[in-house]
Amino acid sequence: HHTFTKHKPKMPLPHFLLVTYPAQGHINPALQLAKQIASTSAAHVTFVTNATAIHRINLNHHHPFLAHGAILDGYDENDANTASDSPTQKLIRYNLAASKSLLELVNSLSDLGRPVTCIIYTLLLPWAADVARQLGIPFVVFWPQPAAVFSVYYHYFHGYKERIESCVKDPEFTLNLPGLPPLASRDLPSFFFPNNPYSFFLTHFEEQFKTIDISKPKVLVNTFNALESDVMESMDGVVELIGVGPMVPSDKTFGGDLFDGDVKDYKKWLDAKLPRSVVYLSFGSLALLQKRQLEEITKGLMESGRPFLWVLRKAQREAEKDVVIETEVIEGREDERGMVVEWCSQVEVLSHPSIGCFVTHCGWNSTMESLFSGVPTVGVPQWSDQPTNAKMVEDVWGSGVRGRVSGEGVVEAKELIRCLDAVMGKEGEGERVRRKAEGWREKALDAVREGGSSHRSLERFVVEISDHES
Ligand code: UDP
Repeated sequence: HHTFTKHKPKMPLPHFLLVTYPAQGHINPALQLAKQIASTSAAHVTFVTNATAIHRINLNHHHPFLAHGAILDGYDENDANTASDSPTQKLIRYNLAASKSLLELVNSLSDLGRPVTCIIYTLLLPWAADVARQLGIPFVVFWPQPAAVFSVYYHYFHGYKERIESCVKDPEFTLNLPGLPPLASRDLPSFFFPNNPYSFFLTHFEEQFKTIDISKPKVLVNTFNALESDVMESMDGVVELIGVGPMVPSDKTFGGDLFDGDVKDYKKWLDAKLPRSVVYLSFGSLALLQKRQLEEITKGLMESGRPFLWVLRKAQREAEKDVVIETEVIEGREDERGMVVEWCSQVEVLSHPSIGCFVTHCGWNSTMESLFSGVPTVGVPQWSDQPTNAKMVEDVWGSGVRGRVSGEGVVEAKELIRCLDAVMGKEGEGERVRRKAEGWREKALDAVREGGSSHRSLERFVVEISDHES
């Protein structure tokens, strides 16, 4: 690990407090960011999330500058009264309890002689900025989605609301935003759609964007310059988007899984397969596929004849019990063509030579991990930023295709097979997509290695905060 020449050794090191929402897709990149800042040896980092998630975090001891702390979120006592809370009530309860708890944590760190010099916070935590402001501490957002999606939201809150609403309503409408390809309704983040149960998230995004406007507009983004230079440059002079990603661990473990890994030996199973022959399927940590979609995927996998490794979380199985009966067929084939697991080490799986493609919901971490591993993707986006990510992958980055949905809103078996054939074919489109994916892998590695764009940007950011302090 390197040290910064610019750092003045006699000054106390700056102390970053990195606070994240306790979702897997936020914890993973935030934990990686915390490790990277700590490993510069130019700053201390305290990684903070709720008490339940903190218990699952394993900060390996390679990082003497890294510590963790828990905040209480109003759910930690397992209060039976909270069980029936709606998503909106959950977020309100969380905000109130967690912001009070964060304030106490920062004060107690100060009493312990470890004053916080900068608060970095992820999505959905605008109150973290309020705490920082109250204490007079600088704060910065770490955006765990692509710059493209940042830009879409930014424009929504800055003059494009009506145009975006027209685009939501009218499938023929084309939305033109600087630095982005023309977007159609189906490419927009789901929170814009009035009929989706999470549209209240928009209010939280709005709060978050207000905090961004107040901070000297600077945002750390889990992306890299080569991937999103167009959109990043288009925001120049408005918001400084600092690409510090991809936040993918080189040792292949993030160190904070909220789910228990499956006991099945999927690595051994993968070892026995031919190079680039296996379809890996995972839809992240939150999305629940509807019954019809599960059925069509099952059917498509059966008919395709390709080996597959499929992550079906416990919650997904419990939500659609009768489809699970059908997947027992798949489970019976563990030693053969298919394997179903409850949770795996995804970064490790994606880097396995047997993996030929990734059928994904296009969560941003999954997307970055596929680029980082050079694995082509078949997008089956579900909600949030995923449709936009799927659009970028297919039309701008070229490292995958997107499944077309039927009238029922599902990717049918024959469409899945078409997509698998497209990205796994040895010639034509398959070769083109694979080359693109491999090209992005090189560029992603270039960005994060010492002297690469993301590495330098993060260094510069840490030094700036240190200088601000001295
Ligand atoms: N993940 C994993 N094992 C699994 C499924 C997912 O480790 O079996 C990880 C994956 O590597 C990624 C995260 O969980 O880092 C999911 O984040 P993403 O943004 O892709 O989706 P989300 O869960 O937020 O919808």
